[in-house]
Amino acid sequence: MENLKSGEFLVKEIEKDSIFIPEEFDEEQLMIKQTCQDFLETEVYPNVDDLEKQDRELMKEILKKSGELGLMGISVSEEYGGFGQSFVTQMLAAETIGAGYSFSVAFMAHCGIGTLPILYYGNGEQCEKYVTRLTTGELLGAYCLTEPGAGSDANAGTTNAKLSEDGKHYILNGQKMWITNAGFADIQTVFAKIDNDRVLSAFIVESSYPGVVVNPDEHKMGIKGSSTAQVFYNDVKVPVENLLGQRGKGFRIALSILHMGRIKLGANVLGASKKTIIESVQYANERKQFGVLISTFGTMKHKLAEQVIRTFAAESANYRVSKDIDDLLNKYMEEGCDKGMASIDAISHYAVEAAILKVYSSEVLDFVVDEAVQIHGGMGYSSEMAVERAYRDSRINRIFEGTNEINTLLVLDTAMKRAKKGDFDLFGEAEKLYAAIDKISDNKVSGEEYSQEKLRYTKNFKKASLLLINAATKAFEKQLVHEQEIMNNLSVIIMEIYVTESSALRVQKMESLKGKEEMALYRKILDVLIYDSAAKIRKAALDAIYSFASDTEAAKLTKAVETLTKVAGVNTKEARRSIAEKLIEDNLYKF
Ligand SMILES: Cc1cc2nc3c(=O)[nH]c(=O)nc-3n(C[C@H](O)[C@H](O)[C@H](O)COP(=O)(O)OP(=O)(O)OC[C@H]3O[C@@H](n4cnc5c(N)ncnc54)[C@H](O)[C@@H]3O)c2cc1C
Repeated sequence: MENLKSGEFLVKEIEKDSIFIPEEFDEEQLMIKQTCQDFLETEVYPNVDDLEKQDRELMKEILKKSGELGLMGISVSEEYGGFGQSFVTQMLAAETIGAGYSFSVAFMAHCGIGTLPILYYGNGEQCEKYVTRLTTGELLGAYCLTEPGAGSDANAGTTNAKLSEDGKHYILNGQKMWITNAGFADIQTVFAKIDNDRVLSAFIVESSYPGVVVNPDEHKMGIKGSSTAQVFYNDVKVPVENLLGQRGKGFRIALSILHMGRIKLGANVLGASKKTIIESVQYANERKQFGVLISTFGTMKHKLAEQVIRTFAAESANYRVSKDIDDLLNKYMEEGCDKGMASIDAISHYAVEAAILKVYSSEVLDFVVDEAVQIHGGMGYSSEMAVERAYRDSRINRIFEGTNEINTLLVLDTAMKRAKKGDFDLFGEAEKLYAAIDKISDNKVSGEEYSQEKLRYTKNFKKASLLLINAATKAFEKQLVHEQEIMNNLSVIIMEIYVTESSALRVQKMESLKGKEEMALYRKILDVLIYDSAAKIRKAALDAIYSFASDTEAAKLTKAVETLTKVAGVNTKEARRSIAEKLIEDNLYKF
């Protein structure tokens, strides 16, 4: 079967059997999940308060223990001491560790951006020297891209490298900021420009090299346990053999590592979200007001259910793309690519989905922690409560690994670029649809089954997005990228499509795995999700249309959008109550 191209879901019908759903984890995967969970219980949670006091040594010690236990080797291939697990398994581990507050940030930075640039782009000697020791935790890693003048515009950095006269070293000068793990990392991947190059190169820098100066940790809003600091490079002599990849390829390395980071962040925040939902429901099941538990109030049920619905949706999308990555990776390997290159190429390929997961999932977590504080009332504002920490820790996820604004713009921009490159026929399909705009119907057929109906809705949402992409590209041509508000409207629609379709396919696939009674609840999750999503898509579409279309065109487009976002009414009160009641009864997250 042909591998799905990134963004191609917009023009293609997807079969349920082509996606992976979390209900399909095998025993080995669940064992890895349990090991990660046990580690949090025994090593992280008992130390969370001390970590909050910015105890760098304690964080270092816990990280090293996780290395000794093998947790740092989940993504690393066997030849460098790791376990070479599938991407789906890596995501499950990332999800589980994601419930570990600051530890999760430090751990993910080490295992991801701190280790993988060397694993994927390093030569044999570099991997042997560094990756084998990063995998065990003997060495800890950091990734140094951001500078005072180069944040979202990452290629604007001014850190400079010059070859020494004897040709043995690069002399590195410059400054990096906001570097996670800087306080204790032994190894840094540093991005700098050689001489007057326009693009970055990447270097492996040992923190012990003379001239590397790490500032004290920044005082942050959240994730206080993770070390974040500025790093200065004053005439640092970096051996020439520590150039990572080729000269001028650093920006490519930086971007592909960021794609990976974005996808893993999607899984990470999922774990944090589930933990926070458990804290919310357990509090609601203990706290009494007006003589009854607050979990009996409809308003509280609404909040709890909504936390579950959005988390379920993000989860469905996260594991769907994970399998697509595994499939593509395996194809590249069959074609003769080595595993490191196959991994990074497969991950980088799904750039549209990576941006979607990053934005959608981090926004879900922000919603979940915000409502968790609210469910706790005054206690939610107390630093005694875990939800207060979760609320502060969550906020960074919308900022790092590319801000959500940048990633939102990337969703549409990357999809269009890939289509122009010939990956899939976005513009042809859009044009065909637009030519028949007067004949557009909601395609409702009588007697359609539950899943058929839901997938018809997501198919209609896709059509709405194509119509708008067609109209907007015609109106602005190459200038569309400068119409960020319209780009955002269209990206929001694409994100909703990916997430609702992933959830609908998951529920369809689950029908054969679970009993009718249990499925009734998952159907309710999907009902509310799609009902709300249709309204969001309609709103984003109308916002775009009224921003650029002429009166005649606006009339045509709005009529089509109204038709294509028409979904059956849902008793959202009853649906949310049922979802919340299961959560309340379980007093745990068991969806
Ligand atoms: C706790 C923490 C840990 C971090 N860890 C690391 C790390 O380990 N390594 C590392 O290299 N970096 C790290 N970073 C840096 C992080 O990746 C950057 O902060 C982030 O990329 C944003 O850059 P900036 O802070 O310069 O914001 P800016 O780029 O100045 O953005 C400011 C605002 O402008 C918006 N904006 C910018 N450009 C555009 C545009 N073209 N269109 C629309 N809106 C735009 C942004 O979305 C944002 O809202 C970390 C940051 C923090 C806070």
